[in-house]
Amino acid sequence: MESSNQGAWKRVLKCGISLGVFAASTTWRFFSRLLGSTPRANCVILYYHSVPAEQRTKFAEQLDVILQCARPVALNAQTAFVPGEHCVAITFDDAFQNFADEALPELEKRRLPSTVFVIAEALNKAFGPAGSTEQVMSLEQLRALPRELVTLGSHTLTHPMLTRVAEQDARREIALSKATLEAMLDSQIVLFSFPFGDFNERLVELCQEAGYQHVVTTLPTFANFNEFVLGRVRVDPTDWPLEFRLKLAGAYRWLPLAFDLKSRVYRLVRAVLRARRQNLEAPKSVIHESSGR
Ligand SMILES: [Zn+2]
Repeated sequence: MESSNQGAWKRVLKCGISLGVFAASTTWRFFSRLLGSTPRANCVILYYHSVPAEQRTKFAEQLDVILQCARPVALNAQTAFVPGEHCVAITFDDAFQNFADEALPELEKRRLPSTVFVIAEALNKAFGPAGSTEQVMSLEQLRALPRELVTLGSHTLTHPMLTRVAEQDARREIALSKATLEAMLDSQIVLFSFPFGDFNERLVELCQEAGYQHVVTTLPTFANFNEFVLGRVRVDPTDWPLEFRLKLAGAYRWLPLAFDLKSRVYRLVRAVLRARRQNLEAPKSVIHESSGR
């Protein structure tokens, strides 16, 4: 288990690297403007989980920062992007009751659109994949959400790690959650969020077959709405102000590269260790023979 001290250092390190990324890309955009070219529009999708009552003020401050720094867009809209602009979409996973109680009033006050991803079989239950449990909204609460501001999407039936279940079960979680939510809410569900951000190419295909328009992950890339898979960056009301601004600017987009590099290094180390073990286990005569040549 990671100590909180170690966690804080990791956070500082990530924040520091992201600050470098932010400085580099701001400089790049500045000089390309000087040279007369307009940079492309960027869009960052944020995802929250819980907004507890005691964090509501911090959450509201973050919404004010969003209004200062970006153009808020809905995830469902056929938004036309203006070159050079910076857009942000706000999403919430797990559909906790404190979305309705704490987050929504602040979003409504600022007319900010958002998307909530619902676990179809967890309605009105206590749910918490990370230890602490929260109450999930009831069907009545979901139905009462203002449609013009809140879009609902699917977050499976039961919130499993989809890469670890049999394909037929994954298909059921993906397709049946869509059908179930559509029947319960009497509206089309076209967005899907992978539980724990756990996905692979096959699961993306299953989502396409099920008829979704977009799926969202937990990889903090810029979101390109011409693509089926959209990246998102995790935010919490407890984020440091600098950390939040950097996430909002898309400066954490180096993280997927770091994850990829890390898994390549692990694979390489495992392969080297395996080769060494096989070498040690090989009969001595064979080693002699080959080394004698
Ligand atoms: Zn979730």
